[in-house]
Amino acid sequence: MPTKNLTRTQERAYLKTRGLKCPCCRSENLEPLSNDSDDDWHTQNVMCHDCLAEWTDLYTMKGILDLQVSFPDERKDQSDAAVPNHDDPAR
Ligand SMILES: [Zn+2]
Repeated sequence: MPTKNLTRTQERAYLKTRGLKCPCCRSENLEPLSNDSDDDWHTQNVMCHDCLAEWTDLYTMKGILDLQVSFPDERKDQSDAAVPNHDDPAR
């Protein structure tokens, strides 16, 4: 199947649907296929059952919200462990 790039406007319209409508035929008959991820991104391959288009949704890790812990006091002395090291020269 040939690869087609969406225009920026088409991509924005697709993102507005939160990825719930096919960018080619607007069908909602979509199926998530395989997915992949690395440090700060996640991809989800998607297929449209109506026009058989396939594409990859790209997600970016932006942060963390609403951390809930079962034992809040247990790791008090390791509180720095949860803080990412932004000075890591490898990044
Ligand atoms: Zn479609």
